[in-house]
Parts: sequence; C-alpha cells; structure tokens
Amino acid sequence: MNIVRASLSIRPAFQHLNGASQNPGVALEQRCLRTIPHAQVKQREELGLVLSDTERDYFREVSSSQAEEFNAPAPSDFFQLLNLDLGATTTDIKQSYRALQRLVHPDLIGDDANEVSVLLNIAYTTLMDEALRAAYQYDVEKYRKDGRAYDGRPVSKWHGAPEEKRAVFVDETSCTGCFHCANMCPSTFFMEDDYGRARVHTQWGDDAEYIEEAVSMCPVDCISYVNRDQLALLEFVLKSCYREDSALMGRRRSGNLGSKPNKHDPFKRAEIWLRHRKEAKLQESSIWKSLLTEEASAAMARAWLALPYAVKEKGWPEFVEANGRVAFFGR
Ligand code: SF4
Repeated sequence: MNIVRASLSIRPAFQHLNGASQNPGVALEQRCLRTIPHAQVKQREELGLVLSDTERDYFREVSSSQAEEFNAPAPSDFFQLLNLDLGATTTDIKQSYRALQRLVHPDLIGDDANEVSVLLNIAYTTLMDEALRAAYQYDVEKYRKDGRAYDGRPVSKWHGAPEEKRAVFVDETSCTGCFHCANMCPSTFFMEDDYGRARVHTQWGDDAEYIEEAVSMCPVDCISYVNRDQLALLEFVLKSCYREDSALMGRRRSGNLGSKPNKHDPFKRAEIWLRHRKEAKLQESSIWKSLLTEEASAAMARAWLALPYAVKEKGWPEFVEANGRVAFFGR
C-alpha cells in the first residue's frame, strides 16, 4: 500500500516536470535555453567576446542580426530630436530647430534626410505651441519615468573595462528574490524595492570571479551574461515585463500550481521590439494623432539612424558618443 501511494505521489510531480520543459522560463529549462551552440561561441570569440566555460552556459543574446543596426542609441522624442532639455524656451527651440534643419536639409544630404526633416518640422510646430508643448512634456516625463521611451542608454552604470564586451543581466521575471547574488556581490547587484527582485546597479562592480560564482549559484538561473551592445535594450524592455507574485512562483516551482507561468520573456520582447523598430514606417498623420507612442519613437529613431554618420556626429554628438558608451559612464 505504501508503495502504491509513493508512486501516485511521484507521478503528478513527474508530469509537472514534463510540462515545465515545454515552458521557457521554468527553472529546469533555463539552462538549456541559455546554452548556445559551440559554433556560435567560437564566432563570438572571433568577435572578441571571450567566455569562460561557466560563462558559456549562461551567455544569452538577442538572436536577431538586426541588433547592431537597430540597437543603437537614437532620439526617441521631440525634445531629444531637437537636442533640448525638458523645459526649453521658445528661443532655445527656434535656435536648435534652425541649426538642425540647416544640417539635414535634403538639398544637401539627399533623400536620407527627408524623414528627419519632416520630423523636425513636426517637433518644431508641436513644441512652439505652448499648450501642446506642456502636454507633450508631461507625456515625455511620464514615458521616461516609466521607461517607455527608448534612447539606448543602459539603466546600470558601467564600471568595467572600456573594451569589455559582456554585461550582466538579471531576468527579473524569473528571479525569486533570494538575495544570494546581492549578498555575494553588493557592488554589482541590489534588491529593488518594487518587486523585491535582484537587479544590476553597476556592471562589473565586483571582481569577475565573484560575479561568475553568483551567476552560477543562482537557484533559478536567471542571471545571464549578455552582449554589452544589447544591454540597454534588455534593461529597457524589462521595465514593462510582468513579474508574477513571488509566492505564486514558489508554488509553481514546488509543482503545486497547474496553471502556466504568467510572465514575459525579456529576450523575446527585445526581439519583437527590434522587429517593430525595423518595420516602423514614418506616417506623418499617425505621428500627429499620437504624439508620443512606441511607434512614433521607433519611427523617429529609424529616420535618424538613416542619416549619414557625419551628420549625426555633428548634430547629435551625445547620441553618437553614446554609441561608443562614453556618455554612459558615471550615470
Ligand atoms: S541569486 Fe538569482 S534568484 Fe536569487 S536574488 Fe539573485 S537573481 Fe534572484
């Protein structure tokens, strides 16, 4: 009788594990998802991304090859497009608009500048109108606070070597809040207040071997090494990822909850975001109708990225420098 009971109690647990393997994000499967084919690892090494044996298991990247082209910092609201701080005066707006419009004039630059030129006109008309400017600024402040406007700047500070190509990223949707990494590497990780999950506040704040140990000791394998160029986007999409209640996560891990995990995968979200950004088409009417949306931001970034490098460097040096990460230090 005892034996029968034992087999009955094991079976549901086994079924749960089988089910878990179908769902990305469940601890058992995480390790497999992170392991990238050897050929790809070699390729990364050729590009200068050297990973230790342990790190290889934990390296993840947004797979899209679009990343390098579209993951670049770019203006994503009218203030950024006009190189203005929030609270800029009409004199500032006029000066900046005129200088930039001269710089990107399609007669000088050609068709590549058409979209930016149109956007500058829209930005100028919007911000010169006092009521519209106040409404737009309110939205921008809200978007920046909520992290809904992407400008390519990582949330975490950079403390690694300038040539370092890896960064550390916590998938907070899977983190159980066990404090282990924050206790072990407090100069790198902290526990954020809103959801009680671990987050990286400073990249490479602790010695690499301690970080490696913290990564490999995470009970749910939710800390990854990622490509530094993709860090800003991952941190950006993470802000809007749903975090399941940690008590429910605990019940799920123990096999005591039948429903599927209600969570977002920041890596998948980053790929979707990149695809949207690539496909964003500038439609003047939609920009007018919805002054600040993800689509409008994506269209703005896409138009700006199409400008010749020398023009971007001259007109928007902060974003061009940010590409080389200079502007991110000390943030
Ligand atoms: S070790 Fe893993 S689960 Fe624990 S707090 Fe850090 S990231 Fe979260």
